[in-house]
Amino acid sequence: MRISERPREACGVFAAYTPRQRVSSLIYYGLFALQHRGQESAGIATSDGETVTVFKDLGLVAQVFDEPALAGLDGHLGIGHTRYSTTGSNNWANAQPAHRQVGHTSIALGHNGNLTNTRELAEHLGIKGSTTDSDLMAEGIARALDDDRSDARGLEMAILKAAPTWEGAFSLVIMDQGRIVGLRDPHGFRPLCLGSLPEGGWVLASETAALDLVGAQFVREVGAGEMVVIDAVGVHSYSLTPSQKPGLCLFEFVYFARPDSHMYGRGIHAARRQMGETLAEEHPADADVVVPVPESGLPAAQGFSAASGIPYTDGLVKNRYIGRTFIEPTQSLRERGIRLKLNPIPDNLRGRRVVLVDDSIVRGSTTRKLVQIVRDAGATEVHLRVSSPPYRWPCFYGMDTSDRSTLIAARLDIDEIRDHIGADSLGYLSLQGLLDATGVADAGFCTACLSGEYPTEIPEVTDKYQLERS
Ligand code: SF4
Repeated sequence: MRISERPREACGVFAAYTPRQRVSSLIYYGLFALQHRGQESAGIATSDGETVTVFKDLGLVAQVFDEPALAGLDGHLGIGHTRYSTTGSNNWANAQPAHRQVGHTSIALGHNGNLTNTRELAEHLGIKGSTTDSDLMAEGIARALDDDRSDARGLEMAILKAAPTWEGAFSLVIMDQGRIVGLRDPHGFRPLCLGSLPEGGWVLASETAALDLVGAQFVREVGAGEMVVIDAVGVHSYSLTPSQKPGLCLFEFVYFARPDSHMYGRGIHAARRQMGETLAEEHPADADVVVPVPESGLPAAQGFSAASGIPYTDGLVKNRYIGRTFIEPTQSLRERGIRLKLNPIPDNLRGRRVVLVDDSIVRGSTTRKLVQIVRDAGATEVHLRVSSPPYRWPCFYGMDTSDRSTLIAARLDIDEIRDHIGADSLGYLSLQGLLDATGVADAGFCTACLSGEYPTEIPEVTDKYQLERS
């Protein structure tokens, strides 16, 4: 089992409906824009109105799909998915879209998020051997569809019947032969937005940056607890449940979302820059240069520099082409691995007192190595500033941090963390400072990993491999 050193996003989802165009290439580019949300597998399902075709495999989007694969995906509507496994192993069967055939109806489903009642759901459905919550959702819809086969709006009725059995986080794209569907759980933990295509047609995507990349115009976010159905007639909206307080994952603003995306109408880059400005006010440092941990620490470091007047400089270079390896490194190789990803620029660090700005510390081991790299490159002091509060509580909504014992801030206080990572000083952005920096604090956020206040019941069993063991 691999333990990640940073929180990992659960997945990216994309869907497109156009009356006139082949959509497989469009979905491919949409997934390409969402690659940062999941790098273990990628898949696309399309329909020509009669037949649903699914192609999926382990690997990055550009590794999984080539021109012959896209050419084999016929049709004018479809869905796509990039996956990081927060439930179940990284194997082919768990790649998405999940698919079910019920009579003449073919459905495919892509999921971003994590259910909190996976075990109960598996028991309720009487399923053994299914390995993901996403697969259980597809099964639940398939069974409801079976009951409703005579209904002309079979898919949406089946989803409305199955969805109340799901608890936790789900932003879904679902399709049958003739329509695409997007829906978000009643809290809206994971994002999902709707865009329109200039030549006609509609797109659903985890992030607005994916709309930009395919030339779609942002229309609106799919609401928490809302289901949108897109077919030849247009977009129809349904409410899943009585509305609840929205709870978009605050870490979308801190780390997960692309800086060129917008959420709740606010630009992510501007919000991260503001986080850095507030951080400089809350935790000033006496230093010569501000250095970001690339890439996600960049806007906050710019904000810290602007607010403090301390010059900004690049001190670490990220290898942009490293991609994701499927070879598990040995411990000694893993120790060396960080240098494959980030390499110092000693000319910018030597003899300087450095403010090192990162977006989060989850397990601490990467941060410790980074501080050492900056010192080894000649920095005389390293003052670490973090543009989010201590990550003390596990996430059950789609981040791979469900084991509290691995979280450094759950075990150590701030002075102990500073000593552990070897920094001269350490300052975290306050929760209020972070919420204010988003510029949309009242829109409603989940802050559970930072505050311990969970918006839903949380599961007793938190093992992401639980279904495989049951
Ligand atoms: Fe996001 Fe943290 Fe809530 Fe998980 S617990 S959804 S990472 S804010």
